[in-house]
Amino acid sequence: MTKFHISKHGMPAPCKAEKGNCPYGGEESHFNSLEEAQEFIDKRNEERYGLLNSVDERRKMDKHDREKEVADIPGYKKTDEEYDSKDLIEKVQIKGFIAIDDADDPLYYTVILVNDTNIKDMTNKFKSQLIEEGLYNNSYIGIITNKLSSSYSMDLLPIYGSSSRYVTKWFASTFEAAIKNSLRDKQLSLLKRARNYLQINKGR
Ligand SMILES: [Zn+2]
Repeated sequence: MTKFHISKHGMPAPCKAEKGNCPYGGEESHFNSLEEAQEFIDKRNEERYGLLNSVDERRKMDKHDREKEVADIPGYKKTDEEYDSKDLIEKVQIKGFIAIDDADDPLYYTVILVNDTNIKDMTNKFKSQLIEEGLYNNSYIGIITNKLSSSYSMDLLPIYGSSSRYVTKWFASTFEAAIKNSLRDKQLSLLKRARNYLQINKGR
């Protein structure tokens, strides 16, 4: 049976090490399900940081969906070709994020509402521009992160700051439109990277 440990980025991940050979520790740091591993992380975060952040709350709400997804992994039925943009959009909408690239050391694609709660180091200049363009607290953007959080650095935004103004063309008016924008971004290769993650997970 697949066990789950907590990766170096603080996220639950399926363990594929031989028994007793895992770099993330022994029995005490392995869990029977993704859900159990997540509960351990939530509890530890709660002790460390007090209130649960919004991402954790969302995770709890989607407990059922997450269990369903874990059940899908071992005999993952769809072929890579069948895992399409629509599946990806659906997953991000349900869970708020999707794992990409390497299954052992995943990165995460997530979509955030653009405001200074979600972007912790937003400069006044940037905020002013967003307000002026009607985007502040009124637009969504997809980002790639190595750790899911309740707030992110401006550095993760694909805004390509110019000397006078930030380029905000990737900001979208809805959550779904932000995912679609990301899928259109050739450099990002989001669908390919999400498929890679599933490919590696297949058969576990
Ligand atoms: Zn392990």
